[in-house]
Amino acid sequence: MPLQFRPIEGVQTGLIGYLLADLAAKAAVVIDPPRGQTELILALSEERGVELKYVLRTHVHAVDGDACDELCSRTCACLLAGDEFEIAGMPAARMCRVGHGAALSFGAETIDVIGTPGHTPGSVSFLWQDRLFCGDVFDLDGCVPSGSETEPGRLFDTLVRRVFVLPEETLVFPAHPIDVRRVATLEELKAHLAPVMRHGRDAFITDMESRRTMDSASGESVP
Ligand SMILES: [Zn+2]
Repeated sequence: MPLQFRPIEGVQTGLIGYLLADLAAKAAVVIDPPRGQTELILALSEERGVELKYVLRTHVHAVDGDACDELCSRTCACLLAGDEFEIAGMPAARMCRVGHGAALSFGAETIDVIGTPGHTPGSVSFLWQDRLFCGDVFDLDGCVPSGSETEPGRLFDTLVRRVFVLPEETLVFPAHPIDVRRVATLEELKAHLAPVMRHGRDAFITDMESRRTMDSASGESVP
């Protein structure tokens, strides 16, 4: 079955989206399309003769509010996001909400929805074959506290109950690269987080809170 997997990088943001296409069935989805890349996504879809079925969002930050409505309005695609996902102004008719355990299909392919709250309340991840698209659940160098939306305790629970139960050979694709890296195995990420995870939930929360305090004191902006 001819399939296509195409990362799509944001021009200025450095964020990475992913186009997944079942070429035989002429169906595709795009995960976290970077702002400003609507034309590229439409051109790729047209070139491959595929219809965009869903625009999947792992999460959106309150200050961002990017609804991908241009991409949705120029295709028949439905914006699909987690239960607690909120975007002001997005017509409800063009939004589909999914919860943990949902299965989405495009062509002959299936994507499993994994509820992964913590980075933001409504964060979800998408598992396709051996690949996990997790947004900002973690970066390739660990978990990053992101302003007041991040709940470290929920994030710890997400990692333990929802993410680290997947096969260790799962390929993890975060929403943005670290240095030049764009993918890691789950085994690698588990090993990286082990020093703080092994001390338990409270220690994880303390670590995240202290780094969040340092980030806000330094004025550093975290994606
Ligand atoms: Zn984020």
